[in-house]
Amino acid sequence: MPELPEVETVRKGLEQSIIGQKIVKIKVNRAKTIDNISVEKFKTELEGEEFNEIKRKAKYLFLETKSGKIISVHLKMSGAFLVQKPETELPKHTHVIFDLHGGKQLRFKDLRAFGRMGLYNNWQDACDKGAVPDLAPEPLEKEFTVSYFEKELKNFTSPIKAVLLDQKKVVSGIGNIYADESLFLSGIRPNRPANQINKKESAKLYHAIKKVISDSIEAGGTSIRDYVNAEGNLGDYALQLWVYGQKKKNCKICNTPIEYIRLAQRGTHFCPQCQV
Ligand SMILES: [Zn+2]
Repeated sequence: MPELPEVETVRKGLEQSIIGQKIVKIKVNRAKTIDNISVEKFKTELEGEEFNEIKRKAKYLFLETKSGKIISVHLKMSGAFLVQKPETELPKHTHVIFDLHGGKQLRFKDLRAFGRMGLYNNWQDACDKGAVPDLAPEPLEKEFTVSYFEKELKNFTSPIKAVLLDQKKVVSGIGNIYADESLFLSGIRPNRPANQINKKESAKLYHAIKKVISDSIEAGGTSIRDYVNAEGNLGDYALQLWVYGQKKKNCKICNTPIEYIRLAQRGTHFCPQCQV
């Protein structure tokens, strides 16, 4: 599942490649990918529109046209955008193709086919119909301050990792990989009750979350499984992971074997020596 940094990388990639581009024609190969309206309506509403802005809220992308229409996109497990020339061989599982005025195609491919697109008349319409998620602040948003974080953690007795993963509680946009990595960097065990994390630790965790998220956005997202960014390149943050996916390997700091448990229904990795 792409996480916030990957989706942000996709957003930036799209921003660079499709802003100002007019949609000449749309082809939908898999009707179920279009969520809230008919394929026919999706096409007629959008053909002739011009991409004007690419927004993101948590893991949702919103492709806004010049007249204000909003295409909502959730990549889910394996959705990806590619901007390619029409003569480039069409990747397998390409479900939606936008022919662009500049001669290229915006292609949406999705191996597992859980990704969805919706169309809304404008931003307000998308909000009213629940397409724009109402979530806790993101790590890089200005509402997410160290004092906010420390105070909010006091409200929850559940394990810190579960609180980090819950998009509506304290912070949004942290998925499994970044939760494990941030907890490692701050020396906190994933199963510690959130309200028992002290002031010093919460400050450490706060800075670790911001660092992990911004480093990975800079690196272009993690290259786990099916993720590709808008240009079709793999990100390379996976090379810098400390605990995630390191089951049976030794901690790079203390050489203790990394432990793997299930927590909040998710595979969880930690170092029993470095994290207390
Ligand atoms: Zn260690």
